[in-house]
Amino acid sequence: MRTEKICTKRAEQSAVVCRKRVFASVLAPMRAALLGGGGIVFTDSNVFGLYQRQLKTYLAEVPVFVMEAGERHKNEQTLFALLGAMREAGLRRNSTLIALGGGVVGDIGGLAASLYMRGIDCIQVPTTLLAQVDSSVGGKTAVDFGGVKNLIGAFKQPKAVYADPAFFKTLPRRELRCGLGEIVKHGALSAPLFEKLFGAADLFDLGFLARIVPENIAFKADIVRRDPFEKGLRKCLNLGHTTGHAIELHSELSHGECVLWGLLFESRLAQKYCKADAAFAESLASLCFRVLESAQTPPLDGLQCARLDKKNAAAETVVLTVPVAAGKYELLQLPYSRYEEEIVKIKEELQ
Ligand code: ADP
Ligand code: ZN
Repeated sequence: MRTEKICTKRAEQSAVVCRKRVFASVLAPMRAALLGGGGIVFTDSNVFGLYQRQLKTYLAEVPVFVMEAGERHKNEQTLFALLGAMREAGLRRNSTLIALGGGVVGDIGGLAASLYMRGIDCIQVPTTLLAQVDSSVGGKTAVDFGGVKNLIGAFKQPKAVYADPAFFKTLPRRELRCGLGEIVKHGALSAPLFEKLFGAADLFDLGFLARIVPENIAFKADIVRRDPFEKGLRKCLNLGHTTGHAIELHSELSHGECVLWGLLFESRLAQKYCKADAAFAESLASLCFRVLESAQTPPLDGLQCARLDKKNAAAETVVLTVPVAAGKYELLQLPYSRYEEEIVKIKEELQ
């Protein structure tokens, strides 16, 4: 077991704990306190289908609100349906919401917990690799609104996050790849982690993943602890994301896959504009391709979106967080037209 404590200036404390057998060891002992309005479990239809036996065994009679699985349901309707279920369950100020699921459940659950009676405790039990190493750590919550991703949200540090590797057994390979995208990004920002990833015989091996998840959580938790409200340092976590997000808007690829492509493209830019270490860039590229498993380059129809990225300081300029050496990144500012030209060129080289 490993615990990471995140303290924000608002005196909220949050513990991230890697814990095996989370149902028996963490949730079952909470059952009595969750009954009679003390709490609610929030999950999605896929997770409920897979883990309802455990819910019945360990949390019998605790109310469960199940949303339809899928990113497209991350909206205000689901948020308000959940808030309605919380009211019906008689939740009070001192009640607890348990968000059991991937990033979508964590985002909506965290936001509902921050709104209900101006804020109740939230416990995150992330069930995807991506949610364990990324979205459940850091206290960001949101729903999409009016066609804009994560438009309505809040920073809400969960009371605790329990990451159990047992959930990986039911995850499709594509979901593992998605989480590995952020893990490789963390690797590019942390030299010791990069070495472990590079030396791994099988990056998809569940035992290997169980071993590196705590290190990934610790890495992200450390950054969040030092910059809880994304004032500066936390921007390093945007590595590969400007190009990644632009790819994501116009492709069927998952977020993690787009981040891997973003890392590939931006590491080439870093070689050209930031004198990035060539051997490191090559190792990072081979790691990205090992996770992607397919060398088909993605469409770039959405590249224009990089123009609107939140990090851009001036019109027609793109600011990128790019990898330059193991554990080192730089902020690279380019005129949009130059950026577009270079990305198109790199795509041809990568093909
Ligand atoms: P994320 O990848 O951001 O965590 P989601 O919350 O959308 O995103 O989860 C991705 C998909 O995986 C959803 O369809 C969800 O229902 C499903 N899912 C979540 N956890 C598991 C699990 N442990 N096993 C199988 N499928 C899961
Ligand atoms: Zn990401």
